[in-house]
Amino acid sequence: MNRRNFTFLFCLIGVSMSSVAQTRNTRPLNIYVIDVEGGNATLFVSPQGESLLIDTGNAGAAAVRDAERIMAAAKDAKLQQIDHLITTHWHGDHFGGMAELAKRISIREFIDHGPNAQPGEAADTFLKDVYPQLYAKSKHTVAKPGDKIAVAGLDVRVVTSAGETIKDALPGAGKPNPYCALYKPGQNNAEDPQSVGTYITFGKFRTAHFGDLTMNKEFELMCPNNRLGTVDVLLGLHHGQSTSNSEVLVHALRPRVAIMNNGIRKGGEPVVMKTINTSPGLENLWQIHFSQLSGQEYTVPGMFIANTLDDQPAALPIEPMPLPQPGAAGVAPPPPHNGTAYWIKISAEQDGSFTVTNSRNAFSKKYGAEK
Ligand SMILES: [Zn+2]
Ligand SMILES: [Zn+2]
Repeated sequence: MNRRNFTFLFCLIGVSMSSVAQTRNTRPLNIYVIDVEGGNATLFVSPQGESLLIDTGNAGAAAVRDAERIMAAAKDAKLQQIDHLITTHWHGDHFGGMAELAKRISIREFIDHGPNAQPGEAADTFLKDVYPQLYAKSKHTVAKPGDKIAVAGLDVRVVTSAGETIKDALPGAGKPNPYCALYKPGQNNAEDPQSVGTYITFGKFRTAHFGDLTMNKEFELMCPNNRLGTVDVLLGLHHGQSTSNSEVLVHALRPRVAIMNNGIRKGGEPVVMKTINTSPGLENLWQIHFSQLSGQEYTVPGMFIANTLDDQPAALPIEPMPLPQPGAAGVAPPPPHNGTAYWIKISAEQDGSFTVTNSRNAFSKKYGAEK
């Protein structure tokens, strides 16, 4: 081989090696927002294939359905195990599918905020009899604000847990929050404010999930100074319910995209839809479900909505349905959706760009990196 050919060959090897390195660096972070009918189950899969699941859907008769829906996403991501499971709080729409899921896939670490703050038969029995057996052969972690959850390729920071918030701002954050003046108190029960909230970064891409954190805690976390900074994607939004989602949090975080884990008749109320749709810098809100509480007046275009009903009505009424009072007489239960469920998938790149895809209709939108 003459010298020129040798140099050529050397260059070729160099090029192919650098493209291998590039492929490795450019694999995305994938996030599956799974339809669990107004509960929560959000699955993160890092480029290295390490997984973090936040919540396991609904309890009771829905537990098998929701565990299977989570498994469908895990299979799509080719996961052999769930490396970390955060249970944000002890409500049945967040821990309900855990025992069924654990029968189907091994879970290596169970993370929670500690004891149940809202006595109730289902959660108390689960915590006494079932949960200790699930984590007996794995790791059990009680999360504290400021903790990092070790997921290869990601920076996962606990920012709220057990009613406490981080005291110091995250790197680069900490400016005064102008929305604090709009604070209105909002509390509903004892467990939602206990939620484990996380702030997750992958290169320049930033996202956050706060479980069902209520407005009072949003204020404690975000005022007087914004300790988090901003996000590209805001996840969850407490199903789009009005006891959370204050301007204090949503507007200060300036999400480009919000993805709401609402149900057919849970969340998506007009007041929340107004807050999100007036959030500075918002490009799109995506919903995991059509919501009767939005009506056409307040909902987003259908291509941004992942799930319909088993028996679809001819049209969604324009007027939103008023939020039924708990236990009110004469209110029929929400129509069911036990058929095929669709996820919303986010694929995020290190440069901060990301693509959101609706698996029902394959509608996909790319959000470019910000300069
Ligand atoms: Zn909930
Ligand atoms: Zn809750």
